[in-house]
Amino acid sequence: MKMKYFAILLTLLLVACNDPVEKKSSGRIKAVSTITIINDMVKFIGGDKVEAVSICAIGRDPHTYVPKPSDPREIATSDIVFINGLGLEHWIEQMIVNAGGERPVITVSKGIEPLYDDAGYGDPDPHAWFDLNRVKTYARNITNGLISVDPVNKSYYEENLKKYIAEINHVDSESKELIAKIDTGSRVLITSHDAFRYFGKAYGMEVYALQGISTEAKPRTEDIKKIIDLIKERNIKAVFIETTVNPALIKQITQETGAVIGGTLYSDSIGEPGSEGDTFLKAFQTNVNTITESLKYNN
Ligand SMILES: [Zn+2]
Repeated sequence: MKMKYFAILLTLLLVACNDPVEKKSSGRIKAVSTITIINDMVKFIGGDKVEAVSICAIGRDPHTYVPKPSDPREIATSDIVFINGLGLEHWIEQMIVNAGGERPVITVSKGIEPLYDDAGYGDPDPHAWFDLNRVKTYARNITNGLISVDPVNKSYYEENLKKYIAEINHVDSESKELIAKIDTGSRVLITSHDAFRYFGKAYGMEVYALQGISTEAKPRTEDIKKIIDLIKERNIKAVFIETTVNPALIKQITQETGAVIGGTLYSDSIGEPGSEGDTFLKAFQTNVNTITESLKYNN
């Protein structure tokens, strides 16, 4: 009898150890995301069942991110990791190795059709979150990831996914309506780095940038000249700075062309808590408002 009891106890202990929900004293699973944009989606879908942490802090540029000594520890204590993929986080692989242990690493862009950087070396463009249709794939991948480590709460995550998709659809149609108010000839978006190609394709805007799809790329004199000429020829009244990129060069462009700074766009990070862009969808909406307000009355 005693042996049998011991065997049952041992089985229970093993089951408990294998169950990620039991691992945390809070009862929540811990999900680490590489960037605040993905982390915000995880927060929405994970709700109160998930402790969501971002490696890149708000306002940090993920292209040039230098890992902190504490980052592998975040991963070591997590149940699941979400990355964007498409070449954005070249620092994550080593960080996962340094963390040790095993946990699912989910590439949230899996299944989307990427755009490629035709102007550069043909690399995939990582900024797929700026097409809300593609964001639905992000949200589904996040949901499936959470279910894989916490199957008990499957219906909870699926319910939140449904709510999130409804919000995405709302912001998507509102964005299309707003951008339609800009004269066709003025639907030109000029920014520091090339983060808005998916946005341009999805919402019918021409996009130009001083730098390539990564902020690591050095701006080329001929590209800068091309943009200056374009602004003059097309009589473009506004250019945009980004929250995660140094605005010096774009400011210089305004001095040479007479175009004004149309505002600051959220590119590779959401905004600080309490700001108008403190969730991904709010940041997206704020961008669309900023772009529309600056370009609407141009010509
Ligand atoms: Zn970027």
